[in-house]
Amino acid sequence: MEILRVENLSKIYGKGAIQVKALNNVSFSVKKGEFVAIVGPSGSGKSTLLHVLGGVDRPTSGKVFIEDTDVYSLNESKLAIFRRRQIGLIYQFYNLIPILNVEENVTLPLLLDGGKINKGKLEEILAILGLTDRLNHLPNELSGGQQQRVSIGRALINNPALVLADEPTGNLDSKNSKEIIDLLKVSNKQFNQTLIIITHDPQIALQADRIITLDDGQIIKDEVIRG
Ligand code: ADP
Ligand code: ADP
Repeated sequence: MEILRVENLSKIYGKGAIQVKALNNVSFSVKKGEFVAIVGPSGSGKSTLLHVLGGVDRPTSGKVFIEDTDVYSLNESKLAIFRRRQIGLIYQFYNLIPILNVEENVTLPLLLDGGKINKGKLEEILAILGLTDRLNHLPNELSGGQQQRVSIGRALINNPALVLADEPTGNLDSKNSKEIIDLLKVSNKQFNQTLIIITHDPQIALQADRIITLDDGQIIKDEVIRG
């Protein structure tokens, strides 16, 4: 089953003489449960693509369909709700709220939605992430690897259709990096969650089901490795 479809996406930054075409007519689709790695040189459009897929950066032209919703046909408030429910975003530098503790950071998307916290689900996620004894800690009291696990918890708490990660291990040493990728793979396989990650690390890319290579805003290679 197809969960994501992207049609003729282009993204142009700037105006007049200083225009940058970050994405140039990109089309592809992703199956439910697929683990896709996006690779390519710096400046090739990887982050732009992830942000457009995640509903946070409107394309200049083209369409993004997630589970049959035409994402950018939604108005801003509907789009914000859609993002919180359907998309989990994970960044290189965690983007945690410094004044909120671990439990509050993880449950933030639910609280913003006025939703009820499912204690069972919360405990399951915190246990998988190894954060059960850190619930009352603030982000600055945690290591980088722990902070990234909190941001994964926040991304997964709503059971999103799509998990998007932008260099999630770019700031971590190799041991923590492996743990984070293993956790993402667990959520991908165990919960059949679709996972798209940007990485510079060939070892990580080779663990994916499929590798999409971008160059100069275009897909220059799209290879299925397994599945
Ligand atoms: P990557 O993630 O592969 O390094 P990006 O998506 O960040 O690539 O950038 C693609 C191109 O778009 C680059 O030329 C970059 O300089 C440009 N770009 C990215 N974001 C902006 C922005 N907010 N304003 C102007 N240009 C941008
Ligand atoms: P706003 O649109 O006003 O920034 P948001 O609801 O989008 O408010 O999110 C507030 C903070 O929580 C942001 O830092 C955002 O990155 C983070 N956030 C919200 N929902 C998610 C999610 N599903 N995955 C990851 N981070 C999220």
